[in-house]
Amino acid sequence: MTRYSISLIRGDGIGPEQADSAKAVLQAISDNSSTKFDISELEAGDVALEKYGKALPEPTIRAIKSSDACLKGPVGESAADVIIVLRRMFDLYANVRPAKSYPNIPSLSSKVDLVTVRENTEDVYLGWEFNADDKTVVALRVTSEKASRRIAEYAFRTAALRNDKKRVVAVHKANVLRKGDGLFSSVCRSVAEKYPKINYSEQYVDACSMNLIRNPEEFDVILTTNLFGDILSDEAAQVVGGLGMGPAANIGNSFALFEPVHGAAFDIAGKNAANPSSILLSAKMMLEWLADTKGDTKAAQEGRRIEESIVGLLKQGKKTKDIGGFLSTTQFTKMIVKAMY
Ligand code: ATP
Repeated sequence: MTRYSISLIRGDGIGPEQADSAKAVLQAISDNSSTKFDISELEAGDVALEKYGKALPEPTIRAIKSSDACLKGPVGESAADVIIVLRRMFDLYANVRPAKSYPNIPSLSSKVDLVTVRENTEDVYLGWEFNADDKTVVALRVTSEKASRRIAEYAFRTAALRNDKKRVVAVHKANVLRKGDGLFSSVCRSVAEKYPKINYSEQYVDACSMNLIRNPEEFDVILTTNLFGDILSDEAAQVVGGLGMGPAANIGNSFALFEPVHGAAFDIAGKNAANPSSILLSAKMMLEWLADTKGDTKAAQEGRRIEESIVGLLKQGKKTKDIGGFLSTTQFTKMIVKAMY
């Protein structure tokens, strides 16, 4: 038996409904397998800001630090004060966002299986914006050799392990951002030399955004910088049918945080209409990461069970509204739990 302590951030908008769904699924795993969870439910985001004057209160930070991994619901207007701070605090340098075709979901292509590996610690997300004068703002975009190298290494390792495609495309805009993206692309090229079995190519970000619509099934691993990765991964999620199916992982050397790709979706909050798949597939990624770091193959097996149950329901046309079905968040969650064991 293996016990994991999980910090679960409930978040804003549809976050609490998704967090309840994740809790039900993790509880089912605890009840039916040798993988057990102690879950601490935590506040962060707009609700915490209103209640405590801080989007990321100290008790939440302490609880995350003492957990084995963090699962996070989406956060609203204060997202930057939560997720960007946590990414930096734990040096979660790799943002990994799979976009995969699932059965029975209206989408541009039914054969997509790609992952965006996005640099997660620098670029314009450092928030270094300054007033040059009262009518002009300058924003700094930071690119370092160290961060470029470690994200490139991560992307190639991912491609080596993932499937038979074995392709990495580095996406940048080095024809305009000659120094910053010039550095990023030259580091990617030097890492590529160490992986002769992986097919390496480069695309400018504008061409990549077009190719993601035109030939999405051609992609395997997209290796890119922070802002471009944020945009391209939302696009990739939509190509396979929408944000409701999009999970993400923020990976560091000793800690990791998992969250849906999407934001708080206030338009459907509180209506029991959110698709929980994005947070449940994030939980699956969390179990795989725990399995890898702790050498616990059983945890990975339970993670796969979550995805298999979602696929099973989709095949039977059992879906939430965002992907063309009629089920509520709670109905879909109950069906997943029932299908798992
Ligand atoms: P942010 O800029 O905060 O990252 P976003 O651009 O990802 O947010 P969201 O508000 O999260 O935007 O999502 C856009 C729309 O997609 C929502 O208004 C909602 O209708 C839909 N959506 C997102 N996530 C889900 C979900 N899990 N289930 C159903 N619909 C969703």
